[in-house]
Amino acid sequence: MKILMDLHTHTVASGHAYSSLEANINVAKERGLKYYGLSEHGPKMPGAPHIYYYSNMRIIPREMNGIRVLRGVEANILDYDGTIDMIPESLEYIDYVIASSHPPCMNYGTSQENTDALINAMKHPKVFIIGHPDDDRFPLDYPRLVKAAKEHDVLLEINNSSLNPIGFRKHAKDNIEEILKLCMKENYPVILSSDAHISVDVGNFNYIMPILSKLKFPDELIINYFPEKFLKMIKFIK
Ligand SMILES: [Zn+2]
Ligand SMILES: [Zn+2]
Repeated sequence: MKILMDLHTHTVASGHAYSSLEANINVAKERGLKYYGLSEHGPKMPGAPHIYYYSNMRIIPREMNGIRVLRGVEANILDYDGTIDMIPESLEYIDYVIASSHPPCMNYGTSQENTDALINAMKHPKVFIIGHPDDDRFPLDYPRLVKAAKEHDVLLEINNSSLNPIGFRKHAKDNIEEILKLCMKENYPVILSSDAHISVDVGNFNYIMPILSKLKFPDELIINYFPEKFLKMIKFIK
């Protein structure tokens, strides 16, 4: 099957990424994607855009270079109540929120605290994805997290950048395998993301694919193969 969608990507506007929106979309096209999602960091990340950036995303065309463009944001979770760093006005023109725990926006907590934070963030009406829940600096109770994701109709992300050997999310592979096994047990889908911070990484899932094969993870549980399911979930289409 063919991956048709990558919804976690950054441009220069995120402050520590290196490509333009056009460059990202061109790579998405080369890699055969049909849907591209732009998801800059929320405003509390050092170097992130000013809040005006998010509401002005309404000017981004819905189709560029033959690719359908979705407007997202990777919001920062700020506390164990799951508060995110986006105000309703800034979310008006945004299709979906990825909620992520990042230093320095969030303190490292206990497994219970970190899991509470993610589950509480899932209750936000625009949070549809939990970003990289594989980061050992924020340990998690995975059985509880997967059950909650299913209950709240929120997807857990399998993040290709977390698996990059030069990355800083240690033991991401073990954590990702645990998430995948639990999702198989619960028969609940995941979303694959590149988390590209440079155009060449858009639509790149090279570290994820061997793990999916090894675990015999079923195609039906990979939402990137069925973009309409995601678009219905976020009420982008009926
Ligand atoms: Zn992130
Ligand atoms: Zn990201």
